[in-house]
Amino acid sequence: MHRNWSLTADWPVAEKGVPILPDQEYLTVAQALNYILASTPVLDSETVSLPEARGRVLSSSVVAQDSLPPFANSAMDGYAVRADDVDRASRANPTTLQVIADISAGTALETTVGPGTAARITTGAPIPVGADAVVPVEETNESWRDRARPLATKIQIYRSVPPGAYIRETGEDIVAGSQVLRSQRVLRPQEIGVLASLGVTQVEVNRRPRAGILATGDELVSIDAPLTAGKIRNSNSYALAAQVEAAGAIPVHLGVARDVAEDVRAKLARGVELGVDLLISSAGVSVGAYDVVKAVLEQNGQIAFWKVRMRPGKPLAYGTYQGIPYFGLPGNPVSALVSFERFTRPTLRKMGGHQELERPRVTVTLQETIDSDGRESYIRAQVKREGASYTATTTGEQGSHMLTSLVKANGLIVIPEGVQQVEAGERLEAVMLDWPETVF
Ligand code: AMP
Ligand code: MG
Repeated sequence: MHRNWSLTADWPVAEKGVPILPDQEYLTVAQALNYILASTPVLDSETVSLPEARGRVLSSSVVAQDSLPPFANSAMDGYAVRADDVDRASRANPTTLQVIADISAGTALETTVGPGTAARITTGAPIPVGADAVVPVEETNESWRDRARPLATKIQIYRSVPPGAYIRETGEDIVAGSQVLRSQRVLRPQEIGVLASLGVTQVEVNRRPRAGILATGDELVSIDAPLTAGKIRNSNSYALAAQVEAAGAIPVHLGVARDVAEDVRAKLARGVELGVDLLISSAGVSVGAYDVVKAVLEQNGQIAFWKVRMRPGKPLAYGTYQGIPYFGLPGNPVSALVSFERFTRPTLRKMGGHQELERPRVTVTLQETIDSDGRESYIRAQVKREGASYTATTTGEQGSHMLTSLVKANGLIVIPEGVQQVEAGERLEAVMLDWPETVF
């Protein structure tokens, strides 16, 4: 039931089609991400009803069954006239027309506007036969406030209008038979509106990936249990599940595994059984004695790589477990979230059919000098708009156990590989995690 795991030719492939990179090799962030994405499948499609389709990605194009507008109608409250009849009308010298009908939106009156006549009309009402323009009510002697008053038999027109004035023509927006939305389009409220106006009740979209989430560590207790000596709460499962959801995917909780191989295997087996599209675990991937995730992956799956030159985020194991793409994220909460952000989120988006996989970036001016260690570094920061440009201030202590440093951040300053220090006033890129209204 799992998607085929195939690699592009650029990467070394082991005998059984399993992605393998030379052990001990450190990849750059870009290499690691390219490697992962090259072998990430786009999931199959499903049909969802329109109200459930927001944020989903169309997997087939939509052709309009109807034109929009479906019929020529008035853009104003006013009088449907023959433009020729009013071509000399002015306030000083109004043209008087005989009112022969009252057409309101939603009706389908079979009225004909002949020479010297007009029909009162509301916005959205069909233009009667014979009329070729609308004169807004403000340009007549009748205020619309008198609407309740019986229809006047005569109306004075204060202005000439060209043919077609204030008429919304049939198909002006969409022509029946044309392609309105291309496959791969992300459905925002406006696309939903277009689909609704065309009577599309169901759409074909890429399936949302289901991501199994496993926390590992003897020190972890569940968030509703009291903290006892030496224990911490399992926060990663919740933060990662929230990230999975925010990426448009579906989190599947696989619980907490103790630092023993059998437990990790048993909980991953549950994920396999549930048919998840991707597996995520946190912790247990470094080289400590209790780092069992890496050992389990080596025995029962395949590790493609487990070293990326990135800060925070080392170590990060990536591979497959029983054919399912596997992310062994670091245990430290900030490292886990930043690694997810950089690698897992684009992967989930690709699976879900998105074309744009990465967050937007802006150029920021640093407000302080920052030291780095030569690895590509993601520094938690507050990005602010100052006039036409952006500034970035770090959120303080960057310890990867300090989640509040990420709570204060709306972006991550990217310090490129090989750079040891960047000075205040330098300009760098920042990945925008949020686009808060206060900043933009
Ligand atoms: P490890 O990768 O196992 O060496 O863990 C690195 C750090 O992350 C340790 O301080 C762990 O206690 C912490 N950690 C591991 N898993 C979690 C989790 N699920 N929630 C919060 N912290 C965790
Ligand atoms: Mg551990």
